Amino acid sequence: MTGAPAAPDTIMAVTAVTVRVPAKVNLQLAVGPLRADGYHDLVNVFHAVSLFDEVTAEPADELTVTVRGESVEGVPVGEDNLAARAARLLAERIGARPDVALTIHKTIPVAGGMAGGSADAAAALVACARLWDASGVRLADLAADLGSDVPFALLGGTAIGTGRGEVLTPVPVGGRFHWVFALADGGLSTPAVYAECDRLREAAGQRVGPPRRSQALLDALERGDAEALGAALANDLQPAALSLRPSLRRTLQAGREGGALGALVSGSGPTCAFLARSAGHAAELAAALSEAGLVRAAVSAHGPVPGATVVAGG
Ligand code: ATP
Repeated sequence: MTGAPAAPDTIMAVTAVTVRVPAKVNLQLAVGPLRADGYHDLVNVFHAVSLFDEVTAEPADELTVTVRGESVEGVPVGEDNLAARAARLLAERIGARPDVALTIHKTIPVAGGMAGGSADAAAALVACARLWDASGVRLADLAADLGSDVPFALLGGTAIGTGRGEVLTPVPVGGRFHWVFALADGGLSTPAVYAECDRLREAAGQRVGPPRRSQALLDALERGDAEALGAALANDLQPAALSLRPSLRRTLQAGREGGALGALVSGSGPTCAFLARSAGHAAELAAALSEAGLVRAAVSAHGPVPGATVVAGG
């Protein structure tokens, strides 16, 4: 045999990339008045926690989305999936076809106020950028176009988001915090919770000022002081989430009775977040909440953790 071509296996083509991406909890969510464009100015202290989705991107003949995991009803598998939108946006930016098979393993509760869809979009951006060798593209710019929670899912850690939440400033954190998340049956629609917040404020004749960051909360984070952090946790959307889902009051109360240092609805809910004293206390509290039968499941996690990270391939 003569003239054999160069062995194709000397070219290391990337065949699959898997990215792990965290959920977020809002440690402070201050909501300003309704703006003329329908948005609200926010001060949003995001904190990434160790509840992860994984997104795998593989070359394919066309764009497809497969979703795996428990309780994934309501997650679109077509063009509307936020991970598919992210892949299309990146492909457009680099002038390529979005021919990729995306497989999403969901652990983050769906429509749970923990930004799971935004997390998947961030993970898809990172996975496809690696698969398509698009390292020169600023993913943070594309992330902001996809949604106001997507940039934080790329960044991770703890950060203050201002504007619609998408302008991020990292926050120093002096330790690891231990959390329990009580997952509810069914979700709450984020736009419906904002609308209920506006309705409740109007009905109460409440004058709403511009949102302000809580210095007590930022100091507690910097010192790694869980007790002070628990006292400073605040969510302006909580009254609206409780109005739409009154049973969450009992969940919050059960967590406080279990010794949580702080208890609040996560973002637009219905997931409830409890700050524990230690990893051991978080495990005990999660078990107690699960046994109380008020919630679909209770899981412990810690934060802060890094944003979307390649864990395999590439
Ligand atoms: P946030 O905290 O950012 O307001 P959320 O955690 O309450 O969001 P998501 O889990 O992000 O809610 O889902 C909101 C809706 O987005 C879902 O009901 C679903 O219809 C749609 N969606 C699109 N793509 C995804 C995805 N990859 N994962 C989950 N939901 C998705």
